[in-house]
Amino acid sequence: GRTGMKYDIAVIGAGPGGYTAAAKAGRLGRSVVLFEKSHLGGTCLNRGCIPTKALLHSAELLGEIKDAGRFGIRVSDVAADQKAMHQRKNEIVESLRGAIDKLMKAAKVEVVQGAAQITAPGVISCNGTEYEAEHIIVAAGSKPAMPPIPGSDSSGVYTSNDLLEGDGKEFSSLVIIGGGVIGVECASIYLNLGCKVTIVEMAEHILPPMEKEIAQRLAVKLKRMGAVIEASCQVKAISGEAGSMSVTYLDKKGKEQVACAEAVLMAAGRRAALEGLFGDGVEPEMNRGALVADADGHTSIDGIYAIGDAMAGNVQLAHVAAAQGENVIDVICGGKGAVDMSVVPSCVYTCPEIASVGLSQEQAKEQGIDVVVKKLPTGSNGKSLIAGGDGGFVKLVAAEDGTLLGAQLVCNRATDMIGELAVAVRLGLKLEDVAATIHPHPTFVEMIGQAAK
Ligand code: FAD
Repeated sequence: GRTGMKYDIAVIGAGPGGYTAAAKAGRLGRSVVLFEKSHLGGTCLNRGCIPTKALLHSAELLGEIKDAGRFGIRVSDVAADQKAMHQRKNEIVESLRGAIDKLMKAAKVEVVQGAAQITAPGVISCNGTEYEAEHIIVAAGSKPAMPPIPGSDSSGVYTSNDLLEGDGKEFSSLVIIGGGVIGVECASIYLNLGCKVTIVEMAEHILPPMEKEIAQRLAVKLKRMGAVIEASCQVKAISGEAGSMSVTYLDKKGKEQVACAEAVLMAAGRRAALEGLFGDGVEPEMNRGALVADADGHTSIDGIYAIGDAMAGNVQLAHVAAAQGENVIDVICGGKGAVDMSVVPSCVYTCPEIASVGLSQEQAKEQGIDVVVKKLPTGSNGKSLIAGGDGGFVKLVAAEDGTLLGAQLVCNRATDMIGELAVAVRLGLKLEDVAATIHPHPTFVEMIGQAAK
């Protein structure tokens, strides 16, 4: 039962990790307090997953309409109204915040608006009030990393927060530092809006965690849309001010180059956001500013747990944070985490979409694992031709006995289709199991069944 300001569980941060944990604990009858200094939904809802996908949808629709001739439609006078695009995005965000608010009420979670600080194990201070909780879950998330490049504090350097919150930003040219998921998704939005985009990436190719073959497909598409992509480059300095910026970098031959644009987007990774969260004397083990925790979320301090982007070495994805949120409550309530963390799909919402789960052919080669690879180009798929999709593929990676180990998709709806393959990989299904399952026709997803044959 609840007496005064005492709770079974306190959660700091209402992103996908925190609100998922709070809702589950509340449903299980635990008394729960959830602290949020900004808005319900965290990074994901307010300046991450949802805003990018809303803007990508508008921007891609514009691209498709401009190209409508190939679908037998004549259009004229097509123009983007970026203010209205942001307005629509903001309405979606607000509506989803409302849905989380309802979820919290239904689970009887007490939501406290304010910045929380852990002043001692089991004790949290927020807005001048003390709260006690047996278990404290830190789900404080992350923020854009600012590498120490001279000039990165210039007025013309923006982060994804600036581009995604409120009315966003309009540019006619943009240099993006970092060709990771956030960099390429923002590139895709701005290219469709007619902006000139240059991507400067440190690794050998964009989307470094993905296979080279996939990165190349996307690079070809982005270049066709007008992007300049510079890989294996090291940014040395940024200069200028908003409206006229220059980025100096060493290209792959070590030669100095300069890219100029109205603005610079810093998309060079994200760091845990834990400033001010721990009071004097509360010192859990950290690694490069993030909380060190085991697979069950235990930090070095008893009763304090970490989940999501705030946790050191974590895969920074909303569904990973949410799964850890579920698991930490199972652990606290005496069980074992019910969500299997070993199979994590990852998605890129460019056009074509990219999705991957489990082992890739490239990783299998690196690890010396013999695999069977089944690859189906999208060219033979009716639905892909109807939708006017670019050349892509469905690739299934299996052990020699046919057990599915992973899959990589580059095609329309790849991000939805990967769900089936995540189930198949997790359950250790074989290619023949997938092939023996009737897939509907005509669909994109039937490519999975065909590839498995
Ligand atoms: P967060 O969502 O960061 O939430 C943490 C919350 O804690 C914040 O609301 C913050 O205000 C609050 N907080 C912090 N400190 C305190 C404190 N002391 N007191 C009170 N409140 C506090 N992931 C995907 O899976 N799919 C995508 O498509 C995707 N797209 C993305 C696009 C962009 C541009 C970005 C930036 C990220 C994207 N991500 C995506 C990643 C995803 O947003 C994060 O992995 C996810 O939000 C992490 O969830 P979290 O709960 O750990 O933290």
